Amino acid sequence: MSFDPQIKPGDVVNNAYIRKIFKCSLYGGMNRSLITNTLVIITHVNKSVYSDRWIGNTFHYTGMGLKGDQRLDYSQNKTLAESNENRVEIHLFEVYEEKEYTYVGRMILTGKPYSERQLDEEDTDRQVWVFPLTVAEGKVLVVDEEKYKSALVKQQWEVKKLSLEELKKRAGKSHKVPGYRMVRVKQYDRDPNIVELAKRYANGICQLCKSKAPFMDKSKEYFLETHHIIWLSKGGEDSIENTVALCPNCHRKMHIVDDIKDIENLTAFAKNMVSADNRFAPYWTDERIKAVKEKAKEAQKTAPKLTNAEKEHMLKKMMSADAGIKKVKYVLGGYRC
Ligand SMILES: [Zn+2]
Ligand SMILES: [Zn+2]
Repeated sequence: MSFDPQIKPGDVVNNAYIRKIFKCSLYGGMNRSLITNTLVIITHVNKSVYSDRWIGNTFHYTGMGLKGDQRLDYSQNKTLAESNENRVEIHLFEVYEEKEYTYVGRMILTGKPYSERQLDEEDTDRQVWVFPLTVAEGKVLVVDEEKYKSALVKQQWEVKKLSLEELKKRAGKSHKVPGYRMVRVKQYDRDPNIVELAKRYANGICQLCKSKAPFMDKSKEYFLETHHIIWLSKGGEDSIENTVALCPNCHRKMHIVDDIKDIENLTAFAKNMVSADNRFAPYWTDERIKAVKEKAKEAQKTAPKLTNAEKEHMLKKMMSADAGIKKVKYVLGGYRC
């Protein structure tokens, strides 16, 4: 290897860095530099219009040419197709966030370029060339799940702009066999005692919508999922005060919407369940639920008008270890059941 990009896989650089080090322009997917004898490939993970994909350790890269049939003997397609003979070094960058280039590494063409049918930028069916590339050093970049997922969310937002006709056309061009790649996941440990205790407190009733669990599992137990009111990933505690049991619908809602009102209600429930006078409360009976709902309504009327930012700030404080019930009462306007 003769060229040193002075960065390692996983490093994030801007386009000025790439231009300066590789001495190439940065106008398209493939950027050749005659000075450094490199070919810089850029792939946009955050956009859905490109059909580049990882299948395990191999990156399948769609060649140059945005409209009409692509040709293998055209421009950088030719450079890439002949890269094992012409000794041009290939370096790959992935874009997860606009203007940020994550370095994947030096790549080698490890399979014969093959053609497939794809849609061009005007949604016209055409032939493209796909280049199977693998990382030269053998170690595939493993990105954080969060970074990867947020790029997938952006892809999903992109296709929202499409008409139904366009969507149907593109869906018809699906690869059928899905691409896949390894991502790095941070797995938080959860105390099984807290999980079980939260479920027993809930006693088969979702603590957000107050409905019965939608079904029983195979061991004939009402199915609820435990949820950390302040997420562990946001620094929440793995404590019973921060854990509730929810039906799958409400659980998804908390992860997608995470509404401040719901957070307040759940916090009140969780605190209530562990407060000394209610610790041995047997079940959430219908009367009890009704009473709680009424109290909550009442409390909302007299609750001090706080901005969302203030509420969030208070909730954060409330969740900290030294926070007392006084603060809970303040935020929730005296709501305690
Ligand atoms: Zn629910
Ligand atoms: Zn959850």
